[in-house]
Parts: sequence; structure tokens; C-alpha cells
Amino acid sequence: MAPVVYPTTNLTATEQMCLERGEGIYVFDDKGNKYIEGLAGLWCTSLGYDNKEVIAAITDQLNTLPFSHTFGGKTHQPLIDLAEKLAAMVPVDDAYIFFGNSGSDANDSHYKMLRYYFNAIGKPEKRKIITRERGYHGVTVAAGSLTSLPANLAHFDAPVEALSILRTDAPHYYTGRKGNETEAQFVDRILQNLEDQILAEDPDTIAAMIMEPITGASGVIVPPEGYYEKLQALLRKHGILVWADEVITGFGRTGADFGCTTMGIKPDLMTFAKQLSSAYFPISASVIPGWMYKEMVAPSNEVGVFGHGYTYSGHPAACAAALKTLEIYERDNLFGHAAEVGDYLQAELRRIFTDHPLVGEVRGKGLIAALELVSNKTTGATIAGGKGGAVAVKACQDNGVILRAVAGNALAFCPPLIITKPEIDDMLTRVKTALDTSYESLK
Ligand code: PLP
Repeated sequence: MAPVVYPTTNLTATEQMCLERGEGIYVFDDKGNKYIEGLAGLWCTSLGYDNKEVIAAITDQLNTLPFSHTFGGKTHQPLIDLAEKLAAMVPVDDAYIFFGNSGSDANDSHYKMLRYYFNAIGKPEKRKIITRERGYHGVTVAAGSLTSLPANLAHFDAPVEALSILRTDAPHYYTGRKGNETEAQFVDRILQNLEDQILAEDPDTIAAMIMEPITGASGVIVPPEGYYEKLQALLRKHGILVWADEVITGFGRTGADFGCTTMGIKPDLMTFAKQLSSAYFPISASVIPGWMYKEMVAPSNEVGVFGHGYTYSGHPAACAAALKTLEIYERDNLFGHAAEVGDYLQAELRRIFTDHPLVGEVRGKGLIAALELVSNKTTGATIAGGKGGAVAVKACQDNGVILRAVAGNALAFCPPLIITKPEIDDMLTRVKTALDTSYESLK
């Protein structure tokens, strides 16, 4: 074993795969095996693995100005261009953008800017953040506490008490419904729970609610029809800001520009990373509305600076990568392509797997999806120990497809946006073979 503390890895495990190169939607390991990257790395390599234009944009920038910080009045043109382009794209009025390096630190930046803003307007008690059970928002101190997945909390003394985080139900009807509850009844019940909690806590102490429009790491949960409309009405009624974590759903993933568009969310705050640069260079963006930014000006003047920033905030090569990525999305109509092949992926997943004895639910939108693996299709009984996903992932890998197990028994799909219909056919044929061979060990 190399002396690496591997992230999100069982530390008793030895290294499993050493990747050497990529091409289109494929990656190749050091033994010459070729795999379809069915999860676009970690839900991020939207343009696949050999986009020469993005690589050229990065290398050109490195050859011109390989670094510039953006503290204390310094700036550079790629940063200005990227901010203007992104601000014009997002459904946030008069958007201002703080740039960082990862989805996690972008969520921490949001957390801090919310504190800064509410302190500035004389409401320091408005500090609690609502998050959802099963939500994933990253692993830094604040983001890690906003995350609800047990593995990200255990042994880290998380959530950090002082961060004042409230948790509400995950909007997953399939696993969360009670008895014969309809979807509408499920939505009304979990939103009533939320309103009860808001009133018990006092709405004046709650700043915002963070949400992934469609979740990723928690199992690709697509909330039922009507959930977001009612949720937003509830939050607005109580003066709680809507904070959309679009780290996975941003930029075409759900078949529209943003997950907010697909799910009918009007956000106040938005978080981006991953597909912002097709993951070719680390960059994240924390988007805030102009009315929030304007209130942050006076306290920064009082202190002398807005005292938050990373050495790599607005790194020139990262900005160049993101600018080129956004240009390609637009020029090649990749969101339109994702919508078309996404519809195909969803239809084919349902056609092939709805009747499969291991599959309890097929869910997703656009180019993000999951199969919920069950031991009993009729009762929906889960696979003991949550080992379904891991067994299926191994079988898929043996059949040349890399996927990811999420929430124990779910098998997640999130291929590069450039995937074609024949490539989807090839991927699903391989996955079907893998699930057929896993059936005996999982039923
Ligand atoms: N938010 C969401 C919705 C994510 O899926 C992730 C990562 O998967 C993050 C935040 C954290 O991003 P990063 O791993 O870049 O810190």
C-alpha cells in the first residue's frame, strides 16, 4: 500500500484499481482493461476523458499566468469572464459568486456568508440551517455536519453542535412511505413534520434550508410531484432561504441547465463544483443574490476586509477550464443532448429493469439514475447489511462498467453528458448481465 490516507475508503482495503488513461466515456486500468465510466468519475467528468479543448484552455492559461490570487483588489480576466458568464446563466437575481476549490468548501463558504449576512442586518439569531436526512453536502467541517450520511458523521464528532443544524425527512417515497400512504399524503406528512419543527424552533432562528434538487450520494432521490412547490411555499412563509446544492445536478445533468429548473425550484443560493469544469481542474462556486452581497459590504469595510478566501479562489487555470467547459456546453447544445439521451436512459432503465427480480425501484431524471436493489420485489425488503450495491458494483466492473453503490442497496448511474444512445445500450446490456449473475447471491 502506498502511504496514502485514501478518501471515502475502508482503510482495511488494499488498492483495487489503478487507472492509467481515459478516452471519451471510457477509462483504462494498468492491466489494459477498458471500462465505461458510468458515474463520470464522481458525478463530474461531463465532457468525458479526452476533451482537448479544455486541456488546451488550461495549458494555455498555465503558460500565460499560472497563478494569481484574488485577495485585496487583485483580479484577472478569466475570473471576470467566468463570473459574468455564470451570473448570467443562474436563476438567481443579480447573482454574485464566491469561487473555491470543491463542493464542500463552497458549502462552508455559503454557511459563513449566511452568518455574515444575518449578522450584518442585525439578525444574529437567524443562524440555524435545515438539512435533510440522507443529504450529502460534502465533508469539511460545516458541510460535513450538513451531510446526514452515517459514515460521514461517525467518529468525527459530527455534526458539530455549535453549527445549529436541524434535520428533516428525506423526500423518498419508496423507502419513507408508511402503510398505504399515497405520494401526496407522504409529501403532506413530511412537510407537516417540517413545519412543526420550524415552529418549535422559532422561524426567526432559522436562516436557510439546503437541498440537492435530486440527490446523489444518498441514492438519487427524486422527490414526488408537488414536494418542492409546497416546500418552497412553507419556507417562504417562514422567511427561510432556499439553498440549492447543485454540485451534482448543475449543468445539464438532469436534462436541463440546472436541477432547480427540472424540479421547479427558485433558489436564493446555489452551490456548484464538479461539472463546472468537467472536473478537469478543481473549482467551485457559491452563488448569492445581490441583495445579500450588498449587506456584506459595510461589515467588510468596518473590519477592513471580507475575511474569507482561499489561496486558490478564482485560480486562473480553473477559471479557464470552467469558461471553456461552459462554452462547449452552449456551443454543442450539450444540455439538449443530455435531455434527449437522458430520456432514452430513463426509458431503457425502466424497460429493462422494472421487472428484474432484484430491482425494487428504478428512479432518476435525465442522465442521473439509480436502481434500488431489494431481496424481495413484492415486499420491497432490503438486502441485509446494505451489501446489494457493493455486490452489483463488483459484478458491473467485471463486465466492464464502473458504477457506484449509494445508500447501501442502490446502484447509481451518472455517465458523462457526451454519452450516446449506442453507448447507453452497451452499458445497460452489461449491467443486465451483471445483475443476472448477482441474483443468486443477493435474493
Ligand atoms: N454537494 C453535493 C451534492 C455533492 O454530491 C458533493 C460531492 O459529491 C459535495 C457537495 C462535495 O463536493 P466535493 O467532493 O467537491 O467537496
